[in-house]
Amino acid sequence: MQTPSKLLLENKAWSQDMIARQPNYFNELAKEQRPDFLWIGCADSRVPAETVVNAQPGEIFVHRNIANQVITTDFNCLSVLQYAISVLKVKHVIVCGHYGCGGVMAAMQPQSGDLLIANKWLLHIKDVYRLHQEELESIDPGKKTDRLVELNIVEQVYRLAHTSIIQSAWKHGHKPTIHGWVYGLNDGLIDELIKLDHNTQINPIYRYAD
Ligand SMILES: [Zn+2]
Repeated sequence: MQTPSKLLLENKAWSQDMIARQPNYFNELAKEQRPDFLWIGCADSRVPAETVVNAQPGEIFVHRNIANQVITTDFNCLSVLQYAISVLKVKHVIVCGHYGCGGVMAAMQPQSGDLLIANKWLLHIKDVYRLHQEELESIDPGKKTDRLVELNIVEQVYRLAHTSIIQSAWKHGHKPTIHGWVYGLNDGLIDELIKLDHNTQINPIYRYAD
């Protein structure tokens, strides 16, 4: 069982190890960050962004929440997105969900009387379910959760494309690419489900007028 003091000890050992390998490591890292990627992932402890793609500190700007959602009234996510696009000028935005997602599974159940706040967060996934209800209810019940995981990821990629931040960057900025990825808890592998770039035709009802 891990304890906070064990974590602090591990931190000390890690810091010493990094310095032993590269004496200037932290001095260099402290100067600035120039990540090429924004990662929007699930808060699930089994899908740590940097670890699963073998990235180092400074390489990925990270935002995580329950079931990797992009909700356009969530100033937390939107602030991260705006900073990543407008200031850091990341080249890629990655929405990475995962099979066996507890948030998605919970969204397929009736609303919980004990988790009133979490219910509201999960409502957006229920909307994705409703949007694809026919397909979801026609497939093998054992595959329903994983299919909703995929549909939820694709939906978040479209939601990103519907923001003024992305549309403006596609029109006047550095044209970042948006990726929808799904991670397998069973094999540690990632598949790409969708990729949108500045040539994407956005449904007119979501387009910002010039
Ligand atoms: Zn999850």
